[in-house]
Amino acid sequence: MAPASYASVEDPIGRLIRKASFIMTAKSENVPSINDQTTWGIGTQCVQGGFVPEVGGPRILPIYQTASYKFEDVDQVGRLFSLEESGYKYIRTGNPTFAAFEQKVALLEGGVGAISTASGQSAVLLAVSNLVKAGDHIVSAKTIYGGSYVLFGTTLKKLGVETTFIDPEAPAEELRKAFRPNTRLLFGETIGNPALDILDFDKLSGLAREFDLPFIVDNTLASPYLTNPLKHGADIVIHSATKYIGGQATSLGGVVVDGGTYQWDNGKFPDFVEPDRLYANTSYWGKFGKAAFIAKARAQYLRDFGVTISPFNAFLLNLGLETLHLRMPRHSSNALALAQYLKGHPQVNWVNYPGLEDHRSYGRIAKYFNHKGASGVLTFGLKGGIGAIRPFVKALKIASLVVHVGDARTMVLHPASSTHAQLSREERLAAGIPDDMIRVSVGIEDEADILRDFEQALQAARKE
Ligand SMILES: *Cc1c(COP(=O)(O)O)cnc(C)c1O
Repeated sequence: MAPASYASVEDPIGRLIRKASFIMTAKSENVPSINDQTTWGIGTQCVQGGFVPEVGGPRILPIYQTASYKFEDVDQVGRLFSLEESGYKYIRTGNPTFAAFEQKVALLEGGVGAISTASGQSAVLLAVSNLVKAGDHIVSAKTIYGGSYVLFGTTLKKLGVETTFIDPEAPAEELRKAFRPNTRLLFGETIGNPALDILDFDKLSGLAREFDLPFIVDNTLASPYLTNPLKHGADIVIHSATKYIGGQATSLGGVVVDGGTYQWDNGKFPDFVEPDRLYANTSYWGKFGKAAFIAKARAQYLRDFGVTISPFNAFLLNLGLETLHLRMPRHSSNALALAQYLKGHPQVNWVNYPGLEDHRSYGRIAKYFNHKGASGVLTFGLKGGIGAIRPFVKALKIASLVVHVGDARTMVLHPASSTHAQLSREERLAAGIPDDMIRVSVGIEDEADILRDFEQALQAARKE
């Protein structure tokens, strides 16, 4: 039995999101429904999406710093624990602060529901665990975030799940060979890090459809402002919210968004269709339909893994998300200006930024991106080896040496001496990390100040 206000929400997306996220609806009548919010432009969605204020209640999304929720009576508890009724049970599987943040990200990506997680890393773990068991197989682009690469190639392997890494730029005929009868998902990143190629969505989603597999895309580096993979054939979208969604490097967090597009009753995913004994024999596909993926991930794997975000982090990430539509154009224009400046510089060996017109991925911006920008991350090769890199990095005043990306502040990293130092030179080259590579996450400061900072640091490197 649903609460009365629940039944009054007639829009299908709102119903799905509420069902999937076990969100209680606001008591007020005078609120924009989720259906209203889907018609908003991206700026309005960023600022006002998700949280629905009630009359007399807080206008700003409150931090619900509570681990538990009061129940009505023992019968209601029974309904909640059998998934018959949507509502909060215990913080591990839901909280009103997360729910508003989740609803906003689902809205921005065009999904039917979302789960926020303790980190981007656990968002990948949660999404993948919802689909595979020991003996299953994953096909993944090799050009993915290092943490996801190790999760697939090492940790999931120990748990009996094998991954074949593919070069997403290889022709489809070659990529077909990677798929097996026990393959359960295809994984890629919108902008691979650090190669910075934009994914060929048509080719990869075509392969996912051909082999009837869900296609998961990590959209962290592009953010929901620049592109929405669900529009280009992805079924599930993942974010490390620690990066552009939060935008200010205050908090760790992740999000899994369910596109509601995949038909789970094709025989490959019996756990979606067959009754779950632990929830009064609920069939996720039967009960939640389009939102089966997110409902199952929450009910089974958020419950078991406990990779839950904290209310305070969800609050900060939501606050950061309110300005995504203002930050991304600035990250992109600053990065383009810096890429163009470095390209003409005599101390620079090469520059890699997909926003440069001669970049191999440039055409995919017009094809797949909602806006012209190419985000804030670029790489370049500095002449003079470590003897130049050391004084260059040291001399930077505005940009700082940090492993993070997606912050409002400009930052640099020399992967060969830091994140990838444990690998041999050959292994680094195979991973696309030459020793002269400097990665820059360009912030939203004034373009002229960033360029001046790089100029004076390049001068300092020349003097050494
Ligand atoms: C950082 C990152 C992750 C992991 O996210 P955390 O929030 O650091 O756990 C996953 N994917 C990409 C593309 C990332 O940049």
